[in-house]
Amino acid sequence: MAGTPASWPTDFLVRMRTWLGDEAQAFFAALARRDVGLRLNPARGSLESLKARLPWETQPVPWCPEGVWLPPQVQEEAQVGAHLYHTLGVYYVQDPSAMAAAVLLDPRPGEWVLDLAAAPGGKTTHMAARMRGEGVLVANEVVRRRAAVLALNIERMGVTNALLLNETPERLAERWGGLFDAVLVDAPCSGEGTFSRDSQAIRDWSVDTVLGNARRQKQILEQAALLVRRGGRMLYGTCTFAPEENEAVIAAFLAGHPDFEIADLPQVPGLQPGRPEWVGAPDDVRRAGRFWPHTGPGHGHFYALLRRKGEPGNNLPERWTGNTVPGRIFNLYYKSVGEAIAGTPPEQGLMLTKTDDLYVTPMDPKLWEGLHVLRPGWWVASLRHNKVWPDHALALALRPEEARFVVDLAPDDPRLTTYLRGGFWPDDGAGEYVLVAVEGFPLGWAKRGEGRLRSRYPLHLRG
Ligand code: SAM
Repeated sequence: MAGTPASWPTDFLVRMRTWLGDEAQAFFAALARRDVGLRLNPARGSLESLKARLPWETQPVPWCPEGVWLPPQVQEEAQVGAHLYHTLGVYYVQDPSAMAAAVLLDPRPGEWVLDLAAAPGGKTTHMAARMRGEGVLVANEVVRRRAAVLALNIERMGVTNALLLNETPERLAERWGGLFDAVLVDAPCSGEGTFSRDSQAIRDWSVDTVLGNARRQKQILEQAALLVRRGGRMLYGTCTFAPEENEAVIAAFLAGHPDFEIADLPQVPGLQPGRPEWVGAPDDVRRAGRFWPHTGPGHGHFYALLRRKGEPGNNLPERWTGNTVPGRIFNLYYKSVGEAIAGTPPEQGLMLTKTDDLYVTPMDPKLWEGLHVLRPGWWVASLRHNKVWPDHALALALRPEEARFVVDLAPDDPRLTTYLRGGFWPDDGAGEYVLVAVEGFPLGWAKRGEGRLRSRYPLHLRG
């Protein structure tokens, strides 16, 4: 059974006791705890207003203004993943220590940012929120099945500036050398931090697995480094405590990359220094940081910020503002999306895929041609049977006042269940495409016809 030290590998317990000494008991007890964190989505409203609407007692995450966590007595009852606010993208369920990644890497609006190991998308959607839709965000996931979940989360949280790729770090580095201001490497690891809830991580754990992970992490960092601009930064993170996967990986990286230096992490509450002495790493690796489960909420994390020396060149690409949609289709798009949304349909960055879907992409298609792109940006519409339909992802990135027609439901309105099941109800109001919202948060489109509003909630999401 996950959750209790009795079920954890003996070697793990021995190693941690050796390193932590007197602190070990407090560490084990805290690691067995299951903290539930919620990261609020500023695209859905001000943090204060969202916090005030949560139906549970919460505590702030000291290092992340968007983050709250639920005290143990509340966690039992709160079904945070099944709550309607989750469906509505009001929050993302995320471990508090994982919320530090976007705080420490600090992606800014307008930057080019890459999340190299992105699924299921906790850190991608956090970075997107901080970029406020400006700049270019690439979310990459090498495992196809996991990339599908990432797509759902990017859509649910209303992200509009992200491309989603299913690529190896090697292929990205070959194509996109020196392209990014900021790269996040949230590396696959032995996951000791997840021992309270992941019995697979416990079964897989051994000193050999730790060393195998370290080898893989070094290979991933090799490729990741090639993607960082001169003057750019890279944040390396794991959710494990094993120093072989943390301080030792960073020490090896620095030894092989004189063009990089380890930077001081921003001083945030709860962050403790790296422990180079555990693996005989150079002293400057102390500038890396650790979050511990016994000194704050969350299951723990390691982070190191690496800066590439030099100044960025002046031939860096800009966000793409072209439009390659053929005139006839563009006119259909303009008419139907124009009927659905209150303002002008987005035109800059508009493109048509081979599957007849229309996206707003932030990156020139020439730059990603030939790569395995699952979603080139914000999916705004689709051409089907000579008609253009506004897409679900368009709805989820709108505020109700940005839609032309809105039906705003209360959570106990019976039409909500009908909507989520893909049904219809009588309604002879105005407008063909109607945004269905709950308490002012967008849920999806409905289409009017013959005195009815029919749900366009996607089949794969229906309950
Ligand atoms: N950043 C994610 C989040 O916040 O939701 C979690 C990422 S998880 C710790 C690590 C990811 O690395 C997994 O999705 C895994 O599929 C991916 N991965 C596994 N092997 C990889 C490799 N060789 N290169 C890049 N990513 C890899």
